[in-house]
Formats: sequence, C-alpha cells, structure tokens
Amino acid sequence: MFKVNVIDHPYVQAVLTTLRDKNTSQIEFRKSLVKLGRALGIEITREMEKEEVEVETPLGAKAKGLKFRDMDKVIIITVLRAGTPLTEGLIKIFYNAKQGVVSARRMDELGMGSGKNFEIEVNYIRLPKISGENIVIISDPMLATGSTISKVTNIVLERARPKKIIIVGAIATKVAIEKTREIERNSGVDVSVYIASIDPEINSRGYIVPGLGDAGDRAFGD
Ligand code: URA
Repeated sequence: MFKVNVIDHPYVQAVLTTLRDKNTSQIEFRKSLVKLGRALGIEITREMEKEEVEVETPLGAKAKGLKFRDMDKVIIITVLRAGTPLTEGLIKIFYNAKQGVVSARRMDELGMGSGKNFEIEVNYIRLPKISGENIVIISDPMLATGSTISKVTNIVLERARPKKIIIVGAIATKVAIEKTREIERNSGVDVSVYIASIDPEINSRGYIVPGLGDAGDRAFGD
C-alpha cells in the first residue's frame, strides 16, 4: 500500500540541515548524503520481512532475536549522478544488493532550453534482471517535479513487476509525491517513499525551495 515516510529522526534532520546549509563544503555535502542513505536504509528495514530466531550466546545462554528474510532480494537503482552518494549509504545496510544505474537529466542542463524545460532525457540504462520477488529501491536525492522518478520507475515496470518499489530521497515536493502515488495506482505494484522532508515550492528553474540547491553540483563540485 502506498506510504510516504518522512523521517523525523533527529539524526536524519541534523544531516538534512547540513545538506541545506550553503556553507557546507563539497566533501561534507557528499559525506552527508552517504550518512542520509545509511540512516534511511535503516528505516527501510522496518518493512523488510523478518523471522524470529534463537541464538546461543558465548555464555551458553539462549537469546531470542530476528533475522531478515529478503535482504538478498534487494536491487538498488541509482539515478545518476546525484544518487551515487545516497546509494553508497544504502549499500551499507543492503550490503548484498544487486545494483543498476539510470542516467537522467533535464533537457535544460543540456543547454537546450530557457530554464523552464523540465523534460527528462535518459541516456544510459543498465539494470540487473528484475523479477516478481525483488524489492527495488530507487535512489534519487531530489524529487522535484517527479518527472525523473516517474520515468525511471516506468523503465523498471516495462521490464518487470517487482514485489515492491521503494523510492529514497532527501527532499520531495507534494507534486512529486502525487506522481509516485500514481505509479502505484497505475501499476498495482506497492510503492513507498522515504525522505527527510517535503518542501513547499519549486521555483521557475525547477529547484526545490528551500531545498538544498543542485545536489549533483554540490556533491561532485559543479
Ligand atoms: N535537483 C536538484 O539537485 N535540486 C533541486 O532542487 C531539484 C532537482
């Protein structure tokens, strides 16, 4: 069932504050995206299948605990290039995930428009085989208009119907959230979203406000 998880954990919010701060250096920004990916990854494990197990401790005593069942079913798809550090954090939690990449950018970044062309060009796709038992995590820090995430999700759905699609980002707008809701409505595949904030606006250049600027430029140095 469609669910948006805005994670208000103080650690996540402190990392988000560092990301928003215009005085944060490139290295600190990149590192903070890695931290955010790891923290959101921990939150995502709440919806992973678990089983109860019993182990013996070095003291010869028994302790009840749990084990994840479907960790090896995870596929992480990185939206290049800004998704790379976020994935670096996610992979610390989903350590044996298979990985795919999609390179997507706005036509305007290619110098083709007036600052208002939010059409998306996808110029590279490399995905592992996806089946009905996979949990597909899509990593893209900024969900502004929702066009990129819709495009990437459709690329996945044209190939397969995974068990679940989980969209992970730093900041989303309501417009983008509505687009992700439509993905579930149209495909029937469970979709959930994990983010640190829903911001109120998109400016005329397509940037989220207050936002954090251009995540790719800030992480990679323009
Ligand atoms: N992509 C970014 O990097 N920043 C935004 O604000 C919107 C899209």
